[in-house]
Amino acid sequence: MHFPVKKFFSYYKPYLKIFLCVLLCALLVSSVTLVFPLLVRYITKDVLEGNLSDALSEVYWIGGLMLVLAVIQNIANYFLDYKGHEVGALMERDLRSELFAHMQKLSFSFYDKERTGQLMSRVTTDLLMLAELYHHGPEDYVKYLTRFVGAFVILFFINAPLTIAVFCFLPFLGAFALYFNKKLNRSFKENKERIADVNAQVEDSLSGIRAVQSFANEHLEIEKFSRENNRFLDSRRNTYKGEAYFYNGVETFIQLITIAVIVFGSASIVSQKLDLADLITFLLYINFMIEPIQKLTHMTTQFQEGITGFQRFIEIMNLKPAIENKPYAVILSDVDGDVEFHHVSFRYEDHTEYVLKGLSLHVKPGEYVALVGPSGAGKTTLCSLIPRFYDVTCGNVFLDGVDVRDIELHSLRKTIGIVQQDVYLFAGTVMENIRYGNPEATDEEVIAAAKHANAHDFIMSLPNGYHSEIGQRGVKLSGGQKQRLSIARVFLKNPPVLILDEATSALDNESESIIKESLESLAKGRTTIVIAHRLSTIRNAERIIMLTENGIAEQGTHDMLLKRGGVYAHLYSKQFELQA
Ligand code: ADP
Ligand code: MG
Repeated sequence: MHFPVKKFFSYYKPYLKIFLCVLLCALLVSSVTLVFPLLVRYITKDVLEGNLSDALSEVYWIGGLMLVLAVIQNIANYFLDYKGHEVGALMERDLRSELFAHMQKLSFSFYDKERTGQLMSRVTTDLLMLAELYHHGPEDYVKYLTRFVGAFVILFFINAPLTIAVFCFLPFLGAFALYFNKKLNRSFKENKERIADVNAQVEDSLSGIRAVQSFANEHLEIEKFSRENNRFLDSRRNTYKGEAYFYNGVETFIQLITIAVIVFGSASIVSQKLDLADLITFLLYINFMIEPIQKLTHMTTQFQEGITGFQRFIEIMNLKPAIENKPYAVILSDVDGDVEFHHVSFRYEDHTEYVLKGLSLHVKPGEYVALVGPSGAGKTTLCSLIPRFYDVTCGNVFLDGVDVRDIELHSLRKTIGIVQQDVYLFAGTVMENIRYGNPEATDEEVIAAAKHANAHDFIMSLPNGYHSEIGQRGVKLSGGQKQRLSIARVFLKNPPVLILDEATSALDNESESIIKESLESLAKGRTTIVIAHRLSTIRNAERIIMLTENGIAEQGTHDMLLKRGGVYAHLYSKQFELQA
């Protein structure tokens, strides 16, 4: 993949000033550390070997200077640690918000394919790595490059031949480090994939915990989880092994170089080419030259990790939502609710089978039609084409005569209310959940909507009334109660077009009759498409449409269809017998 360099650096922009200060601090800290060994050398060589009577006061002066330098260094270091990490965290926050906002726009077809747990991994761990790179990367380069160049220059002036000898060792160290680094990178990537799998497993299993426990299948979940968990362990074990090799290899190199310096340095003292103070200085500086090589290679790892994180981030950011506004999309107002399917064919992405084939259907404003037929016939799919959860493969869907693909998406979706069999409620209060239908609604409007939905009485009997918490996904409520909240939500939204998709199918008879009443009042004055498998519930529809796998088989009123003696009549008598 081509790496988007410009985009990568653009995230620094809001924090450029503070970040440059951070880099300046890194430069300062490194420069000060370079001065210390020089001062030691000055004391051992020039002060203590000169006139000893003046020495003491000079040592005090140098001690004082060291103290000042130490204070400066620590203040700079404090700023570096604190602000550097803060900039990293701020950038991480920005990236995470941007990613989340983008994910909010991605279409149903994207979520049909992806696992939520995997996606969560992207929002969390991947971006964490990226943030590390964003602040530590430049900081460490400045720090270690300064040390390396500084130490090299200083040592060169003290003793050129020895410095060059040490310098010649370094490419070997570099080559060794790079070789291991490649290996390590592979295992880091593997780690990231494994932890994403673990996350996906946790998410999947915990959101289905009720199904798990009702099937008493905890042991299966535990087994599946420990498989993923152990795969993650294996991958980490590999990484640690690689790291242990790497760091100890580097350590051995450092020891070899140090030993060599001690031996050859001492030999040079014997042959009077070097004095003791210089050898000590050398030993003090030697790490300054070696450490950066070790760190810089470690940083290529960090770099790799961050870059992979950024690429995974960009991969999602580059996904265009399958459903988007056209440049000159129409904003609908005063919708009558005329819905027309015109030769609509549809198949789901990556599927070859068509769910709908050349289907045409016209629902007039305010009409109440029922869509019936065997499960899998495509009733839900057909309805999901109106709010553009998916786009038609061929043909058109018109709302008030405008192709839905030409309508601004928000204004389109505001005109359509959907009540489904499974209700999605958010953790929060009753009030917040109903207000989801219209965030601007006042408390009074929320309560009025609840009354319309026959929900007010049960809400008032909850411990905190409208301010009662309903638990994650509304677990503290019964099916019928949840459904009434979702109906109140749609009352508040007040859309001209209404889709009732098996809204009462999951309910018992008593809840069904309460809810039927509120659904009927909700449907008043709106174009309504009701999908039901219990045919008794839609007997009074103005028009019943029988959808089978081969398209619309027949349509008409209940009486007409019964008289016709076709699929509908057959299905109806079968259900009637069951009930009798
Ligand atoms: P109905 O509501 O009439 O029971 P659906 O519209 O839910 O039928 O489904 C029609 C067909 O489309 C079924 O064969 C189903 O398996 C398939 N289908 C439904 N949703 C999806 C999806 N998100 N991705 C792929 N296939 C789907
Ligand atoms: Mg369905």
